[in-house]
Amino acid sequence: MTGPLDGRVAVVTGGGSGIGRATVERFAADGARVVLADYADSAAGAAAEIDPSGARVVFQRTDVRHADQVDRAFQVAMDRFGRCDIAVNNAGVIAGGSLHEDDADDEFDQVWRVCVAGVWHGCRSAVARMRPNGGGVILNTASTAALWPTPAFPAYGLAKAAVVHLTRSLAAAYGRDGIRVNAVLPGPTRTGIFAAATGDLDMADLADLEQRYTATMSLGRMIEPEETASAFAYLASDAARSVTGAALQIDGGFRPGG
Ligand code: NAD
Repeated sequence: MTGPLDGRVAVVTGGGSGIGRATVERFAADGARVVLADYADSAAGAAAEIDPSGARVVFQRTDVRHADQVDRAFQVAMDRFGRCDIAVNNAGVIAGGSLHEDDADDEFDQVWRVCVAGVWHGCRSAVARMRPNGGGVILNTASTAALWPTPAFPAYGLAKAAVVHLTRSLAAAYGRDGIRVNAVLPGPTRTGIFAAATGDLDMADLADLEQRYTATMSLGRMIEPEETASAFAYLASDAARSVTGAALQIDGGFRPGG
């Protein structure tokens, strides 16, 4: 049996749950070997569930806020599987950061260190391995928060807009080294991060929150993590060999502005 990612080796940060986990599952099903990098204890169990043999999916405890830990995850790909073709810089957190709150600066730091510095570290480690080897694919998880006002989460929207900008800059910088760099912008997706927003948005429960978002989506329903994983699988594959510097929305037509 052959798959579109046969022979490829990927590192997926935030691979322990939600979109990242679905991406690890999809990449493995498409033939890739994967380093699942996450800081959560539960992520080791996720890797073992996806590949009980441990031959194709390995867990590496990684806090993306720390460059040395991110680089270690990429080195595990090299040591264990001999190469690194695909990086998915996906780990993220959501926090308020509203300017009038006492903890605004702390929340800004938290979001920036994970969502921006974490992606930066992943891009650096990926370029270091891919450039001497003739290329690769870097995929960064941004958000539709990069495109629309995010009044309850200004720091998050800022961070995700930065990810899109970094993606475009790196696509331009490294295209001639054979490295494609793209961003995926999920809309409202059924995962832990989305549920965590319930409190910040003063919503009574998750169903209310989903209703508020789906009302502004052309498809009228939430996005599932597997649907975003499909976008990553496409962008990682040769089918997307001419695609770089893209910001691909997987958002069901999310248009909060009306
Ligand atoms: P999730 O909470 O299910 O997954 C996030 C993962 O990142 C978790 O496994 C968590 O352990 C990991 N993580 C968090 N901080 C980390 C750190 N410092 N180091 C390593 N791992 C860390 O949520 P998700 O929705 O799957 O989030 C994945 C990405 O998708 C995030 O970048 C998020 O901002 C983005 N996103 C999500 C939505 C949505 O509606 N769910 C929308 C747009 C963008």
